[in-house]
Amino acid sequence: MNELIMIKYGELTTKKDNRKMFIKILTQNIERLIKEDYEIIKDNSRMYIKCNDALKISKKLQKIFGIHGISIVYKVNNNYEDVLNKSLSIMDKNKKTFKVITKRADKDFEISSMEYSRKLGGLILKNSNFKVDVHNPDIILNIEIRKEGTYIYTDELKGAGGYPVGVQGKGLLMLSGGIDSPVAGYLAMKRGVNIECLYFESPPHTSIEAKNKVKTLASIINEYSGKVKLHIVPFTKIQEEIYRKCPDNYMITIMRRMMYRISEKYAKKINAKILINGESIGQVASQTLDSMACINEVTNMPVIRPVATYDKLEIIDIAKKINTYETSILPYEDCCTIFVPPHPVIKPDLEKARAYEKAFDYEKLIDECINNIETITNFKEEKYEELL
Ligand code: ATP
Ligand code: MG
Repeated sequence: MNELIMIKYGELTTKKDNRKMFIKILTQNIERLIKEDYEIIKDNSRMYIKCNDALKISKKLQKIFGIHGISIVYKVNNNYEDVLNKSLSIMDKNKKTFKVITKRADKDFEISSMEYSRKLGGLILKNSNFKVDVHNPDIILNIEIRKEGTYIYTDELKGAGGYPVGVQGKGLLMLSGGIDSPVAGYLAMKRGVNIECLYFESPPHTSIEAKNKVKTLASIINEYSGKVKLHIVPFTKIQEEIYRKCPDNYMITIMRRMMYRISEKYAKKINAKILINGESIGQVASQTLDSMACINEVTNMPVIRPVATYDKLEIIDIAKKINTYETSILPYEDCCTIFVPPHPVIKPDLEKARAYEKAFDYEKLIDECINNIETITNFKEEKYEELL
């Protein structure tokens, strides 16, 4: 293994224990997601990965949260000749101007960073056709001098940022086949939340294609953590009871109250601390502030809504970036879209909602749902793509 990648950590806090935890979980996440041969070398400010195919691995690293920047670096001995030769060999000859930026982790080194940059810059000028431009250079030649050697690199790929998935514990994402909830899951993961997903299906009113679509979405967001699980709730009986026994205009309100109840109960069972969903203020009747308050009333668990304040177009931009959009727009019905009443209430009355839902024994049905949840963990073995 003779190639080397340097990783700059993301939003690393300065508190020592948190830092240790951050680096430990980031390392585990890298180990889970990178299957090629490699060796990790780390210290408190940088991580290095020795490998054979640095370009391919760098691309994969771009999906791992907690990484700020990724560079393919070259390590040479701490002497001017080696540094100069390696620098000249990696500077793109199609470009004209450059600037040297030097950092010294080794503070005992003989001269200051500025002096070093100037001296190396002078040597490059003498030995090539490049010109110096300190304001707008074509090439930034980064030099990091450490005790064990000098690291040289010119380009930096942007990392995914955020915190490593897992530093914040677990959250349960209410994942539908729509555009919003996969984006909500991605944004929560970016803050270090380890996600498991809950999907409500109502066969035969919802189809196998709708379910497969959600599996695909779960597998796409799993690329950011490798730890995603998808739990599928058989929701048909509750939906049919609501349809039969509750007034049309309260059907959605009550259905969502049931979803929240089930989500909270199941979250506790799997040790998730929060619920996450793709609700966005005002998007539909069930997402007016009045509706949200009436629906949220059934749970004490924190409900995080990462896209609550985003415009639909902003959500779509993220969905395209993370590759969920094309799957989300496939036209399969969701349990929210069947039995949709023509005029759902937009200012539901809490007392009415409570009274209407007493029309059936929902506690019993909720327990039945939870006992019959099917869990999918290994997305790679699924053949659902073929069905789409
Ligand atoms: P769209 O992107 O089309 O708005 P959506 O999935 O956001 O689709 P909404 O009706 O807006 O659909 O639902 C709001 C939120 O409720 C979703 O983002 C999701 O978190 C949750 N939700 C809705 N339907 C389901 C379902 N069948 N299973 C799990 N969660 C669901
Ligand atoms: Mg929505």
